[in-house]
Amino acid sequence: MHFGWVLFLVGTNPRSLMHGCEFFAKLLQVIQKPPWLRAKIPGGPEYGKVRNLVQENRLHTVCESAHCPNLGECWSRGTATVMILGEICTRSCRFCVIATGKPNAVDWGEPARVADAVRIMGLKHTVITSVARDDLPDGGAEIWARTIRAVRHVNPNNHIEVLIPDFKGREESLNIVLDANPDILNHNMETVRRLQKPVRVQAWYDRSREVLQRAKARGFVTKTGLMLGIGEKEEEIEETLGDLAEMKVDILTLGQYLRPTPKHLPVDRWVTPEEFARWKDRALALGFGACESGALVRSSYHADEQSAKYTMVGKIRDGGEGTRK
Ligand code: SF4
Repeated sequence: MHFGWVLFLVGTNPRSLMHGCEFFAKLLQVIQKPPWLRAKIPGGPEYGKVRNLVQENRLHTVCESAHCPNLGECWSRGTATVMILGEICTRSCRFCVIATGKPNAVDWGEPARVADAVRIMGLKHTVITSVARDDLPDGGAEIWARTIRAVRHVNPNNHIEVLIPDFKGREESLNIVLDANPDILNHNMETVRRLQKPVRVQAWYDRSREVLQRAKARGFVTKTGLMLGIGEKEEEIEETLGDLAEMKVDILTLGQYLRPTPKHLPVDRWVTPEEFARWKDRALALGFGACESGALVRSSYHADEQSAKYTMVGKIRDGGEGTRK
């Protein structure tokens, strides 16, 4: 916005001028990213390898679809997060740039191609996610289960972390996924209770908690994540961490919200590295087993390291150490 327009809009009344200055300062703050948000530029041989693999296997990645700031770093390390069930989502979250609309028909050949891509990438820890498929009676649970089984069949020593939607709260769908035995069940709360409707639109705080609770009740390692800087207040973060700790969620990720396009919700504030460190300490004090907290942290960012404590002990849900029942 041109500065002249700002003056025109706020007028010359001292009070509105003051509000205008605050508005302008906030606008500048949001346009100019702080230095700790500079991400690596994509490039290098591993990056090219991942790109070719994704294209040749007709796969989608959340790295590309969600404009993830870590794409340069992750792909240069030879890792990517595959997004199954297409690239069109039936939901319209106001923080997410993935296209909303009528998805294509289910591609039953996808699980085999994902399994093969994981083999070629040589991953030891695979993170798979999907768009929400509220158009399907099972929400896509069957494809989820087939993908987990295919990846495990082709890569028997792989740790499989699934970042799933809420399946509209249908327990049968969640159970179809859990029956396929992923190593880590991740479902993101994304934000605090008050902001669920404006941020996630079709999702509910308690329905997401229920997903994590049900997985925990079946003995799975659970993981969730929150974006900070989207309008939440300090006491609301504290309340959310308390709720999740009470449910004995194992792994927590905290990262900075970044506005993908001007049509999406604005960034409310830049959370400093010191504040991220403080929330990490708080999460660990509340009893989370692991917490990754930093501006560029995303659910799948260095996911192998985030979950090492759990995956090192093998199939925790089958009675190993490390989980918080
Ligand atoms: S953080 Fe996750 S989504 Fe982002 S580039 Fe890395 S693997 Fe992809």
